Amino acid sequence: MTEYVIIGDGISGSSAAETLREEDPDAKITVITDEGEALYNRILIKEHAKGKLPEAPISIHEEDWYAERDIELSLNTHVTTVDTDDKIVRTHEGDDISYDKLLIATGGTPTQLPVENSDADGVHHFWTFQDARRIRESAENAEDAVIVGAGLLGIDFAAICGAQDVEGKYLMRGDRWWRYALSGDGAEIMHQAMRDVGVEPVFDSGVDHFETDDEGTVTAAVDPNGDRFECDFAGVAIGLTFNTEFLHDVDLEMDNGILVDEYMQTNLEDVYAAGDITRFYDVLLGQQAQNGSWGSAKEQGRVAAVNMAADTKEEEFEWVSSYSITHFDFPFLSFGHPTLGDEHAERRYSDTEWRRVAFKDGKIVGGVLIGDLSPQSKFKQLMREQRDVVDQADVLLEKQVDLDNLAPSQEQ
Ligand SMILES: Cc1cc2nc3c(=O)[nH]c(=O)nc-3n(C[C@H](O)[C@H](O)[C@H](O)COP(=O)(O)OP(=O)(O)OC[C@H]3O[C@@H](n4cnc5c(N)ncnc54)[C@H](O)[C@@H]3O)c2cc1C
Repeated sequence: MTEYVIIGDGISGSSAAETLREEDPDAKITVITDEGEALYNRILIKEHAKGKLPEAPISIHEEDWYAERDIELSLNTHVTTVDTDDKIVRTHEGDDISYDKLLIATGGTPTQLPVENSDADGVHHFWTFQDARRIRESAENAEDAVIVGAGLLGIDFAAICGAQDVEGKYLMRGDRWWRYALSGDGAEIMHQAMRDVGVEPVFDSGVDHFETDDEGTVTAAVDPNGDRFECDFAGVAIGLTFNTEFLHDVDLEMDNGILVDEYMQTNLEDVYAAGDITRFYDVLLGQQAQNGSWGSAKEQGRVAAVNMAADTKEEEFEWVSSYSITHFDFPFLSFGHPTLGDEHAERRYSDTEWRRVAFKDGKIVGGVLIGDLSPQSKFKQLMREQRDVVDQADVLLEKQVDLDNLAPSQEQ
């Protein structure tokens, strides 16, 4: 009987456990998480923090779900070390759990700003359900907010402030939100949406330090220009630090994340990784890549499990990810790797409609759609087919994309 241990009960670890049980009915499967609750929908916790959604629908699995599948779930258990020679996982309580095959699915933890008072009361980071509960309570009682981190998670803080009637100042380092994926035209649509919910973007800014009162509660953020923004709530979303500290004695290849091949296998035998924590070989891109999104993490967990159970390189991870924002009156979707690419094509269609496609070596590698998501599946199809379409960007920017208008692909 094979013994599988999965560290992490996020969507990647949990989907791996489910697949392992299907693929290997007799196996012993253990899932270890340092959180106090079984899998929940991390995407939806922002709706809870906005005050819009009660707790119940956010939960995905009750503890019974694991018991019914004969999967052992260890909640509130932090893995402190892994010994890959003796194949043992050690927990903070000193328990040793042996494995034949190991999956590391430990994701990341929000990075703290390396500035004075960044751990003050009222300064929030957002990753867990517990964070969402704290943020909700804090935002309900707040009047003025500061938000830092001009990316996909930062904008959730802006939406939370909007929904909770907190006046916000969104301090951004450059001249626009998500500058690696959006031009000024696209970003301006997002800026206006922020203003409409009471959050003012502040450009060429950031946080030099926070000020606190005598109790250690945040009272202001001061930016590098010396401008002072009073606040009793701050949301910081400047990126993730991957949870790899328990692997310090392990000879795993890492490169800002755990390196895996397209089968989710690390450089060590019987050790796999899945989800946000991986830097994986993207077969469509033809290079190592990273992706922090729910669908991708779920699929990586499934593919890892298939390969672990098969004991061979059974299935490749091939996936075009997407990430949507639903806070505003118009939809927003990024797909693939919108921040990569050596060429771009974009067009603005109206005050709330814009599109940008990123190409690498002539092929689409990602993009951003604002206002009209209808070309999504066509662009993803072209990515999967790896078609060279950069010279026909006009067709891709037509309001209604018709792939029949593309010249037939040339035989390579
Ligand atoms: C507020 C928010 C909004 C988001 N919105 C979207 C969205 O709209 N669309 C989208 O696609 N994605 C979204 N994401 C990202 C998405 O949720 C993640 O990409 C996905 O959850 C990653 O899953 P994972 O299983 O790889 O890691 P995680 O979900 O981070 O799970 C890792 C688990 O491992 C545990 N762990 C870590 N170290 C240890 C240890 N040493 N011992 C035991 N347990 C450990 C952690 O506590 C955690 O429970 C959002 C994320 C957040 C926080």
